[in-house]
Amino acid sequence: MKDLVRKIGLIAHDAMKKDLIEWVIWNSELLMGHKFYCTGTTGTLILAALKEKHPDVEWDFTILKSGPLGGDQQMGSRLVDGEIDYLFFFTDPMTLQPHDTDVKALTRLASVENIVFCCNRSTADHIISSPLFLDPEYKPSRPDYSSYTKRFDNKPVVQEAVESVRRRRRKQQE
Ligand code: PGA
Repeated sequence: MKDLVRKIGLIAHDAMKKDLIEWVIWNSELLMGHKFYCTGTTGTLILAALKEKHPDVEWDFTILKSGPLGGDQQMGSRLVDGEIDYLFFFTDPMTLQPHDTDVKALTRLASVENIVFCCNRSTADHIISSPLFLDPEYKPSRPDYSSYTKRFDNKPVVQEAVESVRRRRRKQQE
């Protein structure tokens, strides 16, 4: 049943790393054959745990920079490029993170792109046990942002800017 390859992001804040490693090991049979993107430390630890449990399995892991060093932003970039369809991000609700803004940016982009994502283990349990996780027909709908991206289509902002610079130049030359 492994034609279906889900593209899965995995991140855990330090206090939650053990939780995420346990969760991945517990669900390793279900996760086998999928493609993973992880922030640096999380990915390195999870891969080591998976290799210990399944020494003969090849895991498709892309390990990005450590989260506070840009890894969350790299994950966000992959996400908007359509390379991530599930994000399991175990966040620590009790510790302010130095890269809080990056965490917010990443979870916001997950909403923007309507991917499946969660920030805690019990929701992760529900996602992984959903029949949709293994349903090749299931594709989350992609939101249509065309009215946003085309919002300047009929507005003369370029001509106005060019004209305004021309006027200013003319005035300077007078
Ligand atoms: P890390 O980053 O996996 O490199 O520890 C996680 C995070 O974003 O805090």
